[in-house]
Amino acid sequence: MKTIDLTLDEIFSLAQTALLNAGSSEEMANIVADTVMRAERDGSHSHGLFRIPGYVASLVSGKVNANADPKVENVTPVLIRCDADNGYAPLAHARCLDKVADAAKIYGIAMAQITRSHHFAALWPETEALAEKGLVAFTCVSYMPMVAPYGAKEKVYGSNPISFAWPRKDDAPVVFDMATAAMAMGDIQIAARDGKELPSGVGLNKEGEATTDPKDIDPKTGGGMILPFGGYKGSHIAMMVELLAGPLVGETVSFETALKDNKDGGPPAGGQFILAMSPEITSGSESWDSSADALFGRLKSFDHLRLPGERRHKNRLDTGPRSVNTELVEKIRSLG
Ligand code: NDP
Repeated sequence: MKTIDLTLDEIFSLAQTALLNAGSSEEMANIVADTVMRAERDGSHSHGLFRIPGYVASLVSGKVNANADPKVENVTPVLIRCDADNGYAPLAHARCLDKVADAAKIYGIAMAQITRSHHFAALWPETEALAEKGLVAFTCVSYMPMVAPYGAKEKVYGSNPISFAWPRKDDAPVVFDMATAAMAMGDIQIAARDGKELPSGVGLNKEGEATTDPKDIDPKTGGGMILPFGGYKGSHIAMMVELLAGPLVGETVSFETALKDNKDGGPPAGGQFILAMSPEITSGSESWDSSADALFGRLKSFDHLRLPGERRHKNRLDTGPRSVNTELVEKIRSLG
């Protein structure tokens, strides 16, 4: 694979220019380009520049509102509703996350229910932002059906990612962010692009038979489907995500979402569930962090164990250029 070195500013500009050329408002282009740059900076490649062609496709097709103006209101003091106005999710987050954090700091717990949002990014930016304000955070989104529930040979669930973050007083938050599918779709597409085979247990072909060929698993290229992680247990977590990010927030589940999507290659409109909790208030103690730190210390005592989020936080310390797939950069430049 041929690569080209781009500085973080160049990555931001590449994404921003493509989004502006596709008609995005300056506010949304800047916020999405910043999310893309931070994904590349942290090494979250499947949700960085790789996503720009999809972001652009949905602006051009009109599925995503290029001039989205998300509205935020309090349903109750601890329930913040955000209608994303069919814009990209990072714009909705920029409008509602501070309100969620403020409410959680007063009442101990607060929830955001986001509707009509197009989420095409990693989820750690949301949970990490809340944890950096001293809050425990959880979020999930449902996506297009591409995962066969345990025991089925049809796509019903999205790849349904979940992210959880725990704040630390003197350290970066501990954050995990993962698809509940055996592998995120972006990684399957990257494996297909790079001609790589996948481990067994990742997916099925269109006939519902096990395969290790990413092109057969990808619903777009082979009509196949991904499996949930962890057999029936992961399948139940994927079901939970469907319910939390769908009916609980007033949105559709993945297979209903697919019916209203125009299949332009970009993300469908859907819901997001975000929960923030103040450990100081819920534990009733200022030393809420001591047992948590004891656990992290114990985990870190094992030679080959690392905490989730550590890889990204380490990558972040390097402010130098990043190697990006040359073909992808050329494709993004040609989008204008
Ligand atoms: P990974 O399997 O790469 O990683 C999952 C989590 O485990 C991460 O928090 C990662 O931390 C941690 N981790 C990975 N390897 C280790 C290890 N060896 N030891 C300890 N911890 C480890 O993530 P996925 O492929 O499942 O998901 C990738 C991204 O795709 C996520 O950001 C997700 O939000 C996104 N996604 C978004 C969708 C959307 O609709 N917007 C849909 C589906 C997925 P670390 O980051 O430090 O490596």
